[in-house]
Amino acid sequence: MIRRGIEDFWKAEHIKRGYDVVYTPHIAKLDLWITSGHWEFYRDYLYSPMEVEGQEYIIKPMNCLGHILIYQTRQHSYRELPLRYAELGTVYRYERSGVLLGLSRVRGFTQDDAHIFCRFDQLEDEVVGVLDLAHFMIDTFGFTSYQVLLSTRPEKYAGTIQAWEEATETLSQALARLKVTYNIDPGEGVFYGPKIDIKFEDAQGRGWQGPTIQVDFNLPQRFNVTYIGEDSKEHLVAMIHRTVLGSMERFLASLIEHYGGAFPVWLAPLQVMIIPVADRHLDYAYKLEAALRSDGVRTKVDARSERVNLKIRQAQLDKIPYMLVVGDKEVAAFTVSVRLRSGEQAASQSFDSFKESVKGTIANKVKDLRL
Ligand SMILES: [Zn+2]
Repeated sequence: MIRRGIEDFWKAEHIKRGYDVVYTPHIAKLDLWITSGHWEFYRDYLYSPMEVEGQEYIIKPMNCLGHILIYQTRQHSYRELPLRYAELGTVYRYERSGVLLGLSRVRGFTQDDAHIFCRFDQLEDEVVGVLDLAHFMIDTFGFTSYQVLLSTRPEKYAGTIQAWEEATETLSQALARLKVTYNIDPGEGVFYGPKIDIKFEDAQGRGWQGPTIQVDFNLPQRFNVTYIGEDSKEHLVAMIHRTVLGSMERFLASLIEHYGGAFPVWLAPLQVMIIPVADRHLDYAYKLEAALRSDGVRTKVDARSERVNLKIRQAQLDKIPYMLVVGDKEVAAFTVSVRLRSGEQAASQSFDSFKESVKGTIANKVKDLRL
């Protein structure tokens, strides 16, 4: 439920910012990965090929090539650029069983991936756009402390020194435009281009790998990814790989740690627990449950014949944001008595006003729950 909440939000935000949300197949011809260089450089992390009708296929270790193939389904003019393809793309990489760890290191994971195809004169604006989105996402999910690193040319690299210098300069210009303070990580760029990494901290001070923005000099050349320029000639595109959350699995792990399980209302798997005082209040409780659910509020009734205090205690331990205690008084007046998981409680209020305020809290992704 939490992941679905993140994914729905992610998709909506990307569409607002001019991305096309795409899907690509989970297996692809091995030839593609030979052309890209992945078979040569990352073979240890790829799963063995499978043979289909005399062709070798592998399960995808990254989404980049699928997006290149979408781009190449037809020719593009300079006027159409930038094109931004975003995918919650599940990828598979071999890791030794000894290094697997909970949700944070797994063999199949879903990257919140995107690739931007643009002209070189658009690169800076595109990087600014990604940085702005990354900041917006980190902030919405409630992380306040993070560190930005700009990684420069490593010893082994693709492309020319001049291209590296220009792209590195573009990244630092973009950071400067947004007044972001950052450190240089010398020689830590990937072989195909410089990158910006953002590492954020959870509430316990643990560091997590967050957004990365990479410029790529390698793939456009290897796959001849081009556009037709104003001069009617073919030019190689500038390609950006970027992720803002990292992998959905690892990001979920970071959220669990950050909130200690007490998620903001918009992400909480169960948002409202209705606690009837006695069995005769059950009908009323179910009526409220149906009304909240039909407005998209995730609600349950604790119908067990247990003492009210025990049910409240249980809901608090489960970190459910709201508890609605309903007894004779509430049934008679069509009200609810609201409690928060913190123990804070309010006098009875009309059910309709409670419903409106919960809906507002969810829609606005409010971080601090108050009455
Ligand atoms: Zn990529």
